[in-house]
Amino acid sequence: MSIERACPVCHGRGHAPFADERIDPERVGALTYASRKPPEFMCLRLVRCTTCDLVYAPSPPAEDFLHAAYADADFDSGPEAMAAAKTYADALAPHLQGLTGRNAAVDVGAGSGPLLPWLQSQGFASVIGIEPSRAAIDDAPPAVRPLLREGMFSASLLEGETPSLICSFMTLEHLPDPGDFVATAHHLLEPGGALAVVVHDWRAPLNRLLGLRSPIIDVEHLQLFSRRALRELLQRAGFEHIELSPIRNAYPLRYWLRLTPLPAPAKSLALGLLERFGLADHNFAMNVGNLLAVGIKRR
Ligand SMILES: [Zn+2]
Repeated sequence: MSIERACPVCHGRGHAPFADERIDPERVGALTYASRKPPEFMCLRLVRCTTCDLVYAPSPPAEDFLHAAYADADFDSGPEAMAAAKTYADALAPHLQGLTGRNAAVDVGAGSGPLLPWLQSQGFASVIGIEPSRAAIDDAPPAVRPLLREGMFSASLLEGETPSLICSFMTLEHLPDPGDFVATAHHLLEPGGALAVVVHDWRAPLNRLLGLRSPIIDVEHLQLFSRRALRELLQRAGFEHIELSPIRNAYPLRYWLRLTPLPAPAKSLALGLLERFGLADHNFAMNVGNLLAVGIKRR
C-alpha cells in the first residue's frame, strides 16, 4: 500500500472527497495521453484540498509511467492546435506590452509548435518549444521543428538561457509536481521576466454545471486548479503582480461538438448537419472555464 501524496500546491493533507475513481482498462489506449482528443470521462480518485482549494489525485500513476505515456502518445491535433494557439496569443498579447526583456521565450508543452511563429513575431531573441511527444515534434512544419526540444521541462534542457517569458498552456494539470514546475520557471527567468500559464478552472460555472461529465474530468489530469489554488501556486514560487483572467477559446464548431457530453450517435447527427450547412469549420469563441495566470519575477 503506497502513501498518498500531500496537496501538490500547499502540501496540506486535509481534504474532502471530489470524485471516485473511474478507469476502464480496455479504453486506456495510446490516445488517452494525447491532447485535445474526445473526452473519455475516466478519472483517478480526486479530492479537494481544504486549505488551498486544489482538486488533486492523491495516488497518481508512477512518474516513469507518465513520462512513457506522453512520449508515446499519438498526436491528433492540427487545425484545433492552430485555433488554440491563436486564442493563447490573443490572451498573452496585452501582457507582453508590459514586459521589457526580450531574451528567450519558452513554450512548455509546445506540441507541434503552433504558437512559436507568433512568439517570434514578438521580438524575442530566441524562441524555444519544449515537448515530450516525438510524434508531435515530427508533425511540426519544417520552419518550426528546429525550435523544438524533446523532453520534459527542466533547467538542464534550457542550459545557458535566461528567458524573459516562460509560458505553458494546459500542461500543469498533467505534471506530477506543478510546484516544482513553477519554482524551476521562477529560477530560470530573468528578473522582471514573466510566467504565463493557462489551466482549466474547476470552479468555472460551465465545469460546475457539467460536474463529472465535464471534459476536465479526465484520467490524465493529476490536479485541477481554481483561481485560489492557481494564485497560491504562483505565490509560493515567489511570483509577484499575479493577474488572473478567464479566457475565451475560439475553436471550429466541429471541435466544440467533439467535447460535448452527447452520445456518439447524436454527435454524428449534429456533425452531419453542421457539415451540410457549411458551419463545421466556423470559429466560435466561448468562455469554457479556462484561466490565464501571469506572474512576474521580482527585479
Ligand atoms: Zn492545498
